[in-house]
Amino acid sequence: MNIFEHVQATVSGSKADVSVIGKSVCGRDILCAHCGSYLPPQIIVTAAIHARECYTALVVLEQIDKFCGTRGGAYFIPLVNPDGALFFEQGIARGSETLESFISSHRYWKANANGVDLNCNFDANWGSGAQNKRYVAPSDYIGASPQSEPESRALVEFTRKVMPAATVSYHCMGGELYWEFFQKATARKRDCRLAKLIANRIDVKKVDGHLNSAGGYKDYCVMRLGIPAFTIELIKKGDHPFSPSDFAEDIAKNADLPRFILDILR
Ligand SMILES: [Zn+2]
Repeated sequence: MNIFEHVQATVSGSKADVSVIGKSVCGRDILCAHCGSYLPPQIIVTAAIHARECYTALVVLEQIDKFCGTRGGAYFIPLVNPDGALFFEQGIARGSETLESFISSHRYWKANANGVDLNCNFDANWGSGAQNKRYVAPSDYIGASPQSEPESRALVEFTRKVMPAATVSYHCMGGELYWEFFQKATARKRDCRLAKLIANRIDVKKVDGHLNSAGGYKDYCVMRLGIPAFTIELIKKGDHPFSPSDFAEDIAKNADLPRFILDILR
């Protein structure tokens, strides 16, 4: 599979409103598909910010295909890190010296074409994560500054424009859901309740605490926008690298999750 072409073809052939929210380091489009009404509430669903997790995009493509309902709408961004995805999948470096120098580890690559781990690059306690690195690497490099990368910048600008009621980000693996990032009082109670409902719905384990992570998209949404945000780690057991067929069960379990979330946001 060429996941980038697959996402482009599927999204273009869908009934959704398609837009481009930005470009990757190598100039590839970051696509967004909107389904449903534009009245509130709106949610944003993203996947594949980590290169080797690129088949989480298939879960989102299914959600676009199956989206139905009467209340609110959803913006889907299936492939946040297209350069990283194609490097993981096919070893395509497309002139990126960073990627070329890491060609032997492409099947474990998480970062973008600059070797920045996009999910450590957001302005939310940036650089304070336990695994954070300050040098180019397959994963965990925080970048030169918060949102130094075109992909993370595009996601922040788009999210601020939409101001969604909640966001969901797909990763793998672990079969877990993360929701907490230093919320207090009412927000903590609100987000904990939603996390429990979502985790039960898709049969993953709700994990409490911020677990010494920082600079993630979910962290940014919670801390800077004050909205509930969820990181879902698909695939309960196994080892990287995963193939598309490994996601079959998660694709089925998550197909109507956007509708479910729009309903419980009432
Ligand atoms: Zn991940």
